[in-house]
Formats: sequence, structure tokens, C-alpha cells
Amino acid sequence: MFKKYRAVSRLLLLTAVFIVLLSLPAEAAVTGFIVEDQEGTYYKYHYQDLLDSYALKVFGQPNGLYEDFSAKRPFALFDNKKGYIDYHDVMDQYARAMIEDKSFDLHGYTESDGAKKANMPASIKLVELNEGRLVRTGKTLGSGSDSNNPDFEPPGTKTEILGLPRASVEQAQKWAEGRDAHERLIDIAPLYWEYGDKTGIRPEVLYAQAAVETSLGAFSSNFSPESNNWAGIRTAEASGSEASDYEKFGSPGDGVRAHFNHISAYVGLDPIGEPHERFHLVTEEPWAGSVFFVDDLPGKWSSSSEYHLKILLILDQIMRTEDPGQPEEPEEETTDEAPRERDTGTEPGDGEKVKYLVKVDVPSDSALRLRSGPSTDHDILTRLTRGTVLEVTGNRDEWLAVITPEGKNGWVHGDYVEKVDLTDNPFKGKIVAVDPGHGGSDPGAIGASGLREKEINLAVALELAGLLEEAGVKVVMTRSGDHSVRNARRVEIANEAGADVFISIHANAFSSPESNGTETYYCSENDHSSASKYLAEQVQREMVSALGLRDRGVKQRSFYVLKNTEMPAALVELGFLTNATEEKLLEKKETHVKAARALFEGLEAYLQRYR
Ligand SMILES: [Zn+2]
Repeated sequence: MFKKYRAVSRLLLLTAVFIVLLSLPAEAAVTGFIVEDQEGTYYKYHYQDLLDSYALKVFGQPNGLYEDFSAKRPFALFDNKKGYIDYHDVMDQYARAMIEDKSFDLHGYTESDGAKKANMPASIKLVELNEGRLVRTGKTLGSGSDSNNPDFEPPGTKTEILGLPRASVEQAQKWAEGRDAHERLIDIAPLYWEYGDKTGIRPEVLYAQAAVETSLGAFSSNFSPESNNWAGIRTAEASGSEASDYEKFGSPGDGVRAHFNHISAYVGLDPIGEPHERFHLVTEEPWAGSVFFVDDLPGKWSSSSEYHLKILLILDQIMRTEDPGQPEEPEEETTDEAPRERDTGTEPGDGEKVKYLVKVDVPSDSALRLRSGPSTDHDILTRLTRGTVLEVTGNRDEWLAVITPEGKNGWVHGDYVEKVDLTDNPFKGKIVAVDPGHGGSDPGAIGASGLREKEINLAVALELAGLLEEAGVKVVMTRSGDHSVRNARRVEIANEAGADVFISIHANAFSSPESNGTETYYCSENDHSSASKYLAEQVQREMVSALGLRDRGVKQRSFYVLKNTEMPAALVELGFLTNATEEKLLEKKETHVKAARALFEGLEAYLQRYR
């Protein structure tokens, strides 16, 4: 989420300041401090507000301070150049500059003399300088005691659950369409706004939550669309995350009512109609009735400490979606000095702001050129390898203005990158069972010139395991060396590990040497047959595109390992060892890498949908 914060300029008007380090409970992070002016008036400042005022002064409109929730870091935007900022680091510098009566420098952008702080009294030592490093003492210092100060509650830094809608139902639907959400999520939007009206809960907040919980309306194997359970509410007796642990509601509308009731327990509102059982459980919690911010949802019943970020990201996207019902207003920020008027060749065009991340999508053996301007006439600054993530800050025609992970600015051609979904790393926290077919005394298929299937399967599996581990997956191998493993044991390994996905790797054989191509199997008798089919389709598509062999399609068959695994499962036959051309191809290390990457991409596409 890129949220622009309210700017505060009052600080810049102060001519003399005292800083008193705010004393907070030991476990709380220091988020700001209190400033006293010459009249003895206290001003409370939150780091973010200070950064805002700083940004306003130094960067001016339309630049400013934003928060990148995917990177969990604030950043400054200056003429479409972006620099990441650490709150504490910046505030340390700021405080230190004030103590030492020096100008304040942020990532190379120096505050003008006019804003320089003066008359800093030497007697106030709020923070200690230790070998040039600023150390927070945690002590309350200065003339005023913190206990006399009002509670330090920074304004505008959290996202309220209660309040009037700040996005329209049309915006929400347009956003959902743009994200390829399931129709049922698009159709349900008006009901959210209706209940928002009745309850005073912001409908767009709950709609964003529903989008997160239902994977954009696709739902999951845990709770199906028929449950009408938009918020993933568990039953009062729930002990795990089986289908039976989730509430089922009579109609989509009843599910929306339950969603609002559920959050009502968090914010302290009465339910509408008869609430679901879990509502009463929530009201018994010590925090019930006092959770007013999306930011405070984690640590209650939400699944992860980053839960709120997913909601905030979507909420921000919805609020940024152009309202189809409203006439387009010209942006105040647009000035004659828009970057497009300049002709330096290095300024991002079209006045676009930071919007998204892209990943370099070129073959692993080639590279993408980063150029100084938006055409091939411009100098090559560096070469970017496959998978490098770039921040897009603007565009001109087919060229994108980007910033590399090292902070280098330049341009790349848009054809060679693909958009990164910011909402999540679909691999994070997943367990994938990788099953190299055959092994040991069972060589599997044997090629015309003697190549053994078990070796190819293992080589591809090991490459895949490496890619998955890099992406944060816990990989479970059914074998990682050349030994025999019974099929029952392979299934047991995956089931015992609680794997989210099972992927079996094989190479094909047939009596006719003419037979050729790639095929992928799933089993319709597996409890997860539709997910398995989807998985097989993703794997097949990626494999055909990576190896370039004939597309034999996705097939259904009750292979033991597909039928008895308790998770979505697919089995790929890379190609035919009994076909001389394919045998030669499958022998190459390069092919193993390509095949592994294809499996990785297939799994990624699968996990984007089935999280
Ligand atoms: Zn096989």
C-alpha cells in the first residue's frame, strides 16, 4: 500500500525547540516525541508527521512520504525518484541535527537553511550521542514530566474500521473486476455498502477483508463458496481449519450480515439480528469492543502478524480506483513543470507515480538492458538478470522508468517484465512435497541410448527444491538420493508433513519411438480434484512453454501417489525417453533447470489462486 499521509507544517514554524523523549511502556516502540516551544507549549509529534512536514518542505508537492506496505518501509518520493527511509534512523538524524544545531540531511536531500533549527539549549539531553551514534535512553528528560503530558496518540496513522464509506460500491466493483475477482465477490458489493449504512462500519474495509479471506471470491477448499462465509469465520467449536471448522450461512446476504456482526464484536456494536455463535466468543475477549483499527486486527484471531497489511493493500487499491460514478476531476498536482516537459531523457514520463513492482522476465541465460532513457538509442547502464524485481515509477510508450534493487534509476522495455502481485508471496509458509519418480533398484523408463528416468526425475526435483526453498517454501522430498521408495511411503511422507501441494516428476516411455511430448496428470478421486486439476493445468502450460515439446494435455488417472495424497497433487511426464530427440534433450542439465523453473512457475500460478 502506498499511503500518502497528512502533512504537518507547524514544526517548521517553531524557532526554538526542546525535545523530550517520550517515555512509553517498555514493550512499545518509540513512535514519536514531544516538543516544547519557548512559551512552554507542548507539541506532540509522531515520526510519520515529522516526515510528512519534512517531505512537504524538502520535496514539495506532489512529492511526499509514502508507505510501502509490501516492503514494510516508508519511502520518500522526489521527482519520481524513490528512497527508502527508516523511521528511527531518520528521526535519529533529525534529533541529532537539532541537538547539534545542524541542518538535517535525508538521503542526500538537504533541508534548506530556512528550516534549520536554532537555539537548541545544551541542557536538554534527550538522547545520547555515543561515538557519533544516537542512543535512546528511554528516560524521561526535560522540564516537563511525561506523566503530565496527554497521552501520545498520533493522529491519522491507523486505518479506522468505523466511519463513513470513503469509497463507493462502484469503485469496489471496478477494482474487483480489474483484479479478475470471482463474479460472486463483485455481485456482493452492494450488500456490503447496505450493511455499512446500517452499522456505521466502513463497508470498503470489510469488503477488502472479504477479498482477502475468500481469495478474491474464489474461496478455498477449507470453506467453499456455498458456505457464504465471506470473512472465514470459524465455528465456536473449531479446532483446526477443516471445512467443518468454518461457519456456513444460509445465503450470501446472511454471510455479509455475519461479517458485519463479527466485526461489531470487535468494535463494540450490537449485532444485527441473531448473531452467529462465534460472535459471543469474541465478546468475551478482553479486547472486545476496543479494536477500532484495521492495524490492530493481528494478534486477535487473525492468522498472521501481517494480516492487516493484506487488507490495507486492497483497501488502498479500492480507494485509488477511479470512481466510475463520479466525473473525473483534474488532479491539483498537475503543473506546467510536469516531468514530461523536460527532455533530459532520464525523467520518467507521463507524471505517473510509483504504482507497482515488476520482475525481469527474460530467459535465464540472457539479460535485460537497463538504459538511461526510453529507447534503444540510450546508453546501457547495466544488465538485469531474470527475476530481478524493479520498482516502476513511470512510463513512456512501451518503456518503463524503473529503480533497481540497488537504487539505480533507468529504463527498461515493458515487454521483458511481468507485474508482481504485491498482495502476497504465495509461497510463503507453504509446504511442498516433491516426488522424484522411481529410484534405487527401480530405474523407471530407460531411453534408447540408456538414459535412466530415475536420474532425470531426481535432477529436476533437486533443482525445483532449490527454487522453492529460495522462495520461502518448506520442501519435503520423497527421496533426495538414488534409492528405492515404495509409493505408499511417498504418500505417507507428504501426508505426514502436512504438505500443501504434491508434485511428482517423471519421464515417459512407449513402445513406439515416435511417441513424444509433455503431459500432466491429476486424479479426480483425490479429495482435492478441482485444485489438482488446476495445478496440473498450470504445470502443463508452463512445461510446454519451457521445453517446447508437443502439448499432450492434462489427463485424469488414478495413479497411487495422486489418489492417496491428502492434498492437491499432480504428476508431470516431462517427455519421452523412448524418443531419441527427447532423450537427448532430457539428458541436458539445461533442460533440468528449465523444467524445474516451469514447475516452479506452475506452482506459483496455482498458489496464487489456491492459497
Ligand atoms: Zn515414471
